[in-house]
Amino acid sequence: MDPEHVARPDPRLVDDHGAAWPRQSPLRTGALGHCPRCGKGALFRGFLTIRDHCPMCGLDYSYADPADGPAVFVQLFACLPGVIFTLMLQILADPPWWVHVVVSLPVLLVSTVLPLRPIKGWLVASQFYFKAREGRLVKDE
Ligand SMILES: [Zn+2]
Repeated sequence: MDPEHVARPDPRLVDDHGAAWPRQSPLRTGALGHCPRCGKGALFRGFLTIRDHCPMCGLDYSYADPADGPAVFVQLFACLPGVIFTLMLQILADPPWWVHVVVSLPVLLVSTVLPLRPIKGWLVASQFYFKAREGRLVKDE
């Protein structure tokens, strides 16, 4: 067989020390906040801030730019149960305003803030997995 056609590991899956990592599921690594290459290092520093690089394999996270993606997904899907709950509470029980402050506000906060981190991690891991980047007219060599 021609040596140029021997399967080589994807260069993005090889770290600075020459270790080849197996391909990781972007859904699993992203939702857990782990590195999309090694699946072990932390992706986040704090709640939503992405690290500069992976502490385990050294993957440079500078490619990561989910922009408004996590907020859009939360607005479209994740906060829907909270809004439906609040509307149904108002329609069915017609409670005083303070019930919404005590019950509806925490439900809305939980249904909108908690999904942000796993969704952001999933989008960053998907960028790595699917080689997503800004479009270019000239192919890099
Ligand atoms: Zn890593």
